[in-house]
Amino acid sequence: MTMMKALRKTRAAAGAQLESVPVPIPGAGEVLVRVRAASICGTDLHIYQWDEWSQSRIRPPLTFGHEFCGVVEKTGAGTESVAEGDFVSAEMHIADGHCRACRMGQPHLCQNVKIAGIDVDGCFAEFVKLPAQNIWKVHPSIPEHYAAILDPLGNAVHSVLAAPISGQTAVVTGCGPIGLMAIAVAKASGCSALFATEVNEYRRGLARQMGADEAIDPAATDVVRYVRDATGGAGVDVLLEMSGNPHAIRQGFQMLRQGGRASLLGIPSRPVELDLVSDVIFKGATVLGIYGRKMFETWVQMDELLRAGKLNLEPLFHERLPLKRFEDAFALLAAGKANKILFYPNGNPS
Ligand code: NAD
Ligand code: ZN
Repeated sequence: MTMMKALRKTRAAAGAQLESVPVPIPGAGEVLVRVRAASICGTDLHIYQWDEWSQSRIRPPLTFGHEFCGVVEKTGAGTESVAEGDFVSAEMHIADGHCRACRMGQPHLCQNVKIAGIDVDGCFAEFVKLPAQNIWKVHPSIPEHYAAILDPLGNAVHSVLAAPISGQTAVVTGCGPIGLMAIAVAKASGCSALFATEVNEYRRGLARQMGADEAIDPAATDVVRYVRDATGGAGVDVLLEMSGNPHAIRQGFQMLRQGGRASLLGIPSRPVELDLVSDVIFKGATVLGIYGRKMFETWVQMDELLRAGKLNLEPLFHERLPLKRFEDAFALLAAGKANKILFYPNGNPS
């Protein structure tokens, strides 16, 4: 096989094109993976809709998509750690390995990071080519649909486990797919009481299914007062900010106890105004910026949680579609009627 189907941005405009392109050839240190299932992320919707961020970042032509699992088809020279036939996913942040952050053991903060599906070709295709060091072998007990969403699950695991969570109370602000996964991870890791805030009613329902003790609508309830009252006036130990919404970010800090920890993952589209004095300085808050997944500590933790059967992610899954139905997939996602939609570029779900 020399040609393959790929979902591409071929022009700087909204939409995408299903094209026939050459199957990539893995060079030294590279691996070719036959994509089994690929999942759509909010970022893919931004790229599809060609928002302001995409216009500044994406350089067409590009095959997008960065959440997937598949089977190794071919390996280049010097890739002994990976073999043909391995069932794999991958860390799609490709670190350069030599910048200061990389040399200090923080490749997830590489200053020259390239992201597959954003800066170089990604996984909405029959095949994807990646550096062997980015490949993650998936344990056979982990189901295919879970293996397709390890990238966002890793965001949730990184956010939750960045500091103690066992025996602590927490609030998750924003219950999109990553917030929902963070709920499951926190509860599985010993979080004692978990409050979720979310404006979308459907997603509040999912938050409860994922294990939130309470899911509150910030448009209808004074969430800050509610959570403070429910925690004896103290506020929660941990804030997991998963919305990127400025109001939710401010409310999150107001719900945090003196000396609490905030993991900030949500990405606001503009600079956000915060009351640093009362929310961070006098609070003695520990504020953690969370980017991507730690390589590969987060992957190891995620693997352990999944293999131990600690995470039920079934409520997250929605449609499973062939690549050619991409227009339906993005329409569903844009309407806020779906969570994780899976593409099957090489045929139907098993
Ligand atoms: P998403 O957009 O599906 O979820 C955000 C949720 O927040 C939505 O359900 C929305 O209804 C809710 N929300 C909006 N305003 C709110 C408010 N005032 N109060 C409570 N909830 C509110 O996104 P996602 O895919 O789950 O990702 C979560 C966030 O993380 C996004 O901002 C995304 O850009 C960001 N992200 C960051 C990283 C990273 O490495 N830091 C990686 C992936 C995604
Ligand atoms: Zn680097």
